[in-house]
Amino acid sequence: PTAQSPVLEVSALTRAFGGLVAVNALDLTVHRGEIVGLLGPNGSGKTTALNLMSGLLRPDSGTIRFAGTDIAGLPAYRIARLGLARTFQLVRVLGGMTCSENVRAGLTFHRSPLASGEMNDTAAILLERVGLGGQGQRPASELTYIDQKRLELARALALKPQLLLLDEWLAGLNPSELLIGIELIRSLKNDGLSILLVEHVMDAIRSLCDRCVVMNSGRKIAEDEPGLVLTDPVVIEAYLGV
Ligand code: ADP
Repeated sequence: PTAQSPVLEVSALTRAFGGLVAVNALDLTVHRGEIVGLLGPNGSGKTTALNLMSGLLRPDSGTIRFAGTDIAGLPAYRIARLGLARTFQLVRVLGGMTCSENVRAGLTFHRSPLASGEMNDTAAILLERVGLGGQGQRPASELTYIDQKRLELARALALKPQLLLLDEWLAGLNPSELLIGIELIRSLKNDGLSILLVEHVMDAIRSLCDRCVVMNSGRKIAEDEPGLVLTDPVVIEAYLGV
């Protein structure tokens, strides 16, 4: 795979709930090593699109090619094993477990089975990677909010993803945490990871995204680099609900 080959190619993706077409003929491509922002006002279809890509929902029509495989309609665990990982809007760490156990829960989805010692080592490396070095034995319930976010990221990274879907991963962070979070995401890109980022935090979109796709009422209404998309009158109008 070359740097510019697509890791994700979504084409004419469509899903309705009753009479409401939540995602309507969506085309979207993420190239290897790219961060693409998926933007749009509340209710525009972003989460539904992520759910279709990660296998939590079945599309009505359209195709989703991930790393050369057509994944549309595959169950979520199979898509995860192919190397498409995601985080959720509401943090989903397992509070009754330690940090290490949380990451090991992610590792059991790993393509090749790991021995228990190897699991511990890999979990420790992943915790270190997200800034939770040495915290393996800490109960996840004791973590601050940003550290829970870090843990969720470590669990997603345990899948050895080729593509990471981040669903408002930066939401709820205070300004100084936000800077840390942005740098953490940037460091993942620098490691070669491809990322699709659903995000409302404008500073993050501006500084992280190579390209943005904007949705409104299920449809793509704009696609360009962040500086252009965020000043596009069509996009501004959609956000203001005019
Ligand atoms: P966003 O993530 O951009 O806020 P969503 O994908 O959550 O948008 O929602 C898109 C539209 O689909 C909204 O009108 C929402 O009410 C509707 N919707 C989402 N999930 C369901 C569902 N499970 N059943 C019925 N309607 C849904």
